[in-house]
Amino acid sequence: MANIKEEKLRKLKKSFTGGAIVALLLLGTVIFAAFAATLVVFCMYMIDSKVRAEYDTSSKIAEVYGRSGESEAEDLMSIMYIGDRDYIITDANGKIISEHGNNTCDLSKGGTVDLLGIAASAQEEAQEELKEHHGVDLGMNTDASSYGQITVYPDKQLPVIRPNRFGMMRIDPQMVRPVLAKIKQEAENAHEIGKALVSVPYWIEVPLGNGTNMVFRSDFSVYLREMAVVGILSGIIVLFTIALIVFMIVFLIKAFVRRKRMNEVFYMDEITGNYNWLWFIKFAEEELKKKKNASKKYAVLDIVFANYRNFCVCHSLDEGNRMLVLIDKTIRTHINHPKELAAHHSAAHFAVMMTYTDRDDLEARIKAMISDLEKINSDHKFNYWIGIDRIRESTDDNGRPEKRENVDVERSYSNAGAARATLSGNESAIAFFDEKMVEEQKWIDNIVENQDKALENEEFLVYYQPKYDPRTNELKGAEALIRWKSPQYGLISPGRFIPLFEENGFITNIDHYMLRHVAQDQKKWIDEGLSCVPVSVNVSRAHFIEADLAEQIRDIVDEAGTPHDLVEIELTESAFFDDKDALITTIRKLKDYGFTVSMDDFGSGYSSLNSLKEMPLDVLKLDAEFFRNGDQDGRGQIVVSEAIKLAKKLDMRTVAEGVEVKDQVDFLAEEGCDMIQGFYFAKPMPKDEYEQKLSDPQTI
Ligand code: C2E
Ligand code: MG
Ligand code: MG
Repeated sequence: MANIKEEKLRKLKKSFTGGAIVALLLLGTVIFAAFAATLVVFCMYMIDSKVRAEYDTSSKIAEVYGRSGESEAEDLMSIMYIGDRDYIITDANGKIISEHGNNTCDLSKGGTVDLLGIAASAQEEAQEELKEHHGVDLGMNTDASSYGQITVYPDKQLPVIRPNRFGMMRIDPQMVRPVLAKIKQEAENAHEIGKALVSVPYWIEVPLGNGTNMVFRSDFSVYLREMAVVGILSGIIVLFTIALIVFMIVFLIKAFVRRKRMNEVFYMDEITGNYNWLWFIKFAEEELKKKKNASKKYAVLDIVFANYRNFCVCHSLDEGNRMLVLIDKTIRTHINHPKELAAHHSAAHFAVMMTYTDRDDLEARIKAMISDLEKINSDHKFNYWIGIDRIRESTDDNGRPEKRENVDVERSYSNAGAARATLSGNESAIAFFDEKMVEEQKWIDNIVENQDKALENEEFLVYYQPKYDPRTNELKGAEALIRWKSPQYGLISPGRFIPLFEENGFITNIDHYMLRHVAQDQKKWIDEGLSCVPVSVNVSRAHFIEADLAEQIRDIVDEAGTPHDLVEIELTESAFFDDKDALITTIRKLKDYGFTVSMDDFGSGYSSLNSLKEMPLDVLKLDAEFFRNGDQDGRGQIVVSEAIKLAKKLDMRTVAEGVEVKDQVDFLAEEGCDMIQGFYFAKPMPKDEYEQKLSDPQTI
């Protein structure tokens, strides 16, 4: 039960936060990915279009340059300047043969620039030009060959060299104009937009033919407008990410708080407002399983406030519950939370788990607790029963502490309960669960574990105990009594398992089983022509809470086709303390259906006379106790004699149970007892044996 609840809580917690977090993360990821993708696409588009435009422009210039002649060199240069492009021209070997602008060679290292096709006179002219306009003496070597060289020295800035002066280029104005217009437009646009915010240089190489290349220096420039778009997109992503993180944190905190509250409610006991049994099991198991606790000894206690029921009856349920709150508080003062645990279990029961060093120490602590518990209410003398189950240290084969794996706190508490159940009386007391109880518990577990299988395999046998007329010794009836022929334990008497089945509710299946078998046996014997007598079947009090019990009985008997007057229903006297009205209704219905109804074990309780007054019963079964241990002063005989007379006056027949000696038989015969069911005549016997008796009713 506890496990089912625990499991449900676990699922609730999991579905509550887990699902929401996953959904939120998915949604967040989708939105994040959408923004990020937009940003990336925008950046890629921007880079691609800019580089492509630069390459187009560079190609156009290179094309113009390739066709250019001396006359139109000025136009070409204006293209270069408007585009503000730095460039170099390399020959087939990668050697620079011409250049324009800044940063076209590494000035810190120096180098040599070949001037392809430039006459020595032009070189001199260039040298002069440089000196005149820039005040720089390049220290240029000239020779008479058609190739010139400009040597660049370190620390000297390379000035702009105008190629037209060297007669290198010829240009077709028709070609240049559109390009010029385009470049001008770009320059104007750039001017309009303003200064680039980011500028990254790169080189574009365009082949000119004959192995020479024109290599342009370009700048990848990002302007304010573009930067604004990138900035806005990046800002949205950052803001969104921050919002998502904040939301997640808030959500998790809220979920954590809610989970904590859920735990509090789930693990709170309604009466004490403190921890409940579920909490106890969960945390006791956790504590026991900790590796560091393997070497500790624990005791699980079942503490019962023995006077609870009476206290509630005398005062009120509320007063009783207030007592439970005080008991809970007092118990708590005797444990070291959180290593030791205490919780209200149910009704007047409390569960405690405490550590101890030895039995004396444990007993001393528990007695101190009892002493305080007894002082809770000075107006009353309360007593407490405490059952104790000890959990030893956990060690491996070499005696070293070993983490506990199979921990079963419920079992320990149930053991403690078994020990506690042995206590009674008006004084507080403690009892330790011991090995004998372990055996008993094993037995109980085994029985309960095998009950369904046993029923299925028909391991339960119907024994019949005949009832005789004490005057004529005639067979007048029988009682069906169950036996369990267990493959494991042999023949088990009902006293060993019926109380267990009554406790766990399996008794209703047993009652049905017995009734069905008796009805079937009776039908078989009728069909075989035997002179059948009524057979009584015990019906447990647990069965009487079922409103349609009479109908269930009728249907089972009808299914076998047995006449109703051959079946008798025995109700134990204790059943008469339950819901009286319901019981009377069931008895009436059973009688209306033609069944005989008897009161079993009359005289074993103390309210029998009252029951007799109200219940329309047919048969009174005098309890075996009347005939046990002799009757020295004859008082027993008086009671039995009067009971028989009383029954007769109430129009009831009598059956005396547990009659073992002839004197008793004679006495009962004299008093007018209708039937005797006892070892004197016959013990409960297997079906075959009883069948023999039916075939010859005179044989006792
Ligand atoms: P009960 O219904 O009062 O049954 C009578 C018990 O007294 C039987 O014990 C029977 O063997 C015993 N008895 C009869 N005559 C004598 C005698 O002369 N001396 C002694 N010492 N004992 C005698 P049994 O069969 O052990 O049954 C014990 C109880 O178990 C029954 O008491 C009944 O309450 C319960 N029980 C038995 N079979 C069933 C069943 O099928 N269903 C239910 N619900 N309870 C059953
Ligand atoms: Mg009986
Ligand atoms: Mg009886």
